[in-house]
Amino acid sequence: MIKFLDNKLFRYLSVFLFLNSAILPVKSSSALAAWAIKTNGVLEFRTKSNTNLKAYFQKANQISGDRFWVDFPGELKNPRTINGNGPIKEIRLGKPNKGKTRLVIEFKKETYLKPLSWKLVGIDQNRWRIKLFDPKYQFEKIGEGVVEKKKIFKANQNSIPQRKSEYRYLKLPEVKQNKFLVVIDPGHGGPDPGAIGIGGIRETDVVLEVSKIVEKLLTEKGVKVRLTRKNEIDLDLPPRVSFANNTDADIFVSIHANASRGKRRDINGLETFYYRGWRGRLLAKKIQKQILRVSPGSPDRGVKQGRFYVIKNTRMPAVLVEIGFLTGRLDARRLEKTTHRKRLAYAITKGILEYLNKVG
Ligand SMILES: [Zn+2]
Repeated sequence: MIKFLDNKLFRYLSVFLFLNSAILPVKSSSALAAWAIKTNGVLEFRTKSNTNLKAYFQKANQISGDRFWVDFPGELKNPRTINGNGPIKEIRLGKPNKGKTRLVIEFKKETYLKPLSWKLVGIDQNRWRIKLFDPKYQFEKIGEGVVEKKKIFKANQNSIPQRKSEYRYLKLPEVKQNKFLVVIDPGHGGPDPGAIGIGGIRETDVVLEVSKIVEKLLTEKGVKVRLTRKNEIDLDLPPRVSFANNTDADIFVSIHANASRGKRRDINGLETFYYRGWRGRLLAKKIQKQILRVSPGSPDRGVKQGRFYVIKNTRMPAVLVEIGFLTGRLDARRLEKTTHRKRLAYAITKGILEYLNKVG
């Protein structure tokens, strides 16, 4: 929600809506799909999902009347001007610079607007509303396209949390369907709980939950997934490796959480290991980058070469991810929450998909 502030010193005012950081590629088409100024003076518009908007207001000057405009990512095909009625002089759709779309509403000179009370509100994932004026006389609706069009969710998106701004910054890339097989290895299990952290939090539980979410997300993207374990069983390292080597898996990802010696609460951070090859290293880099994004403040311990059994003996590109320190104050507090585990799972999935897209 944005309030428009009227400041005499800064007649030029810009407001940024950071709903997420997904930025469309420069050459993509306009993110503006439809717009309408309704008879009650409300502007509504529909965009692509995950759109960053910038909205501006400028007071009238010698050349033009009051103007309100919104910039959208993506390039408009046909710049055009539409005649207004009532207090609106005209609406212009243009491309202020390459790869952008601008919707300008210019008011007639005598119009009295109250931008102080304006609020641009997101009413949906892809719909927006702002009350611009109270029509004194009859005002005829102006617009293009259908604003109310319902977004059709693909079946596989139902399970992805849709709550505003929660995971959308982690929009997952598309990959070729049914082409890839990924083995996910949740560390430890059964009588071996792995690391035990603050408040008794157990590595085996954390990594199993994260792994299962990764499995679900990858499956929804058309990637085949095999888990080395699906529940609390005692699984030694050699069977994990032979399991992976007996498949045609493209990659192997082992998921772990860390503990520091002496259980030092000041030690936090994320790290990803590979054993050999540029592919393993690339996969590690992609995953490390994404898990850091969802763990602000937690140190980047880097992408490193490590001689862990499971990544040393698997034949495909393999990595071992440490998603945080269960003994660290910052990491443990997060890792005990399902929301953070989901974010980490998204991040790992994103890293995997990016890798598959690049190398696959
Ligand atoms: Zn471990």
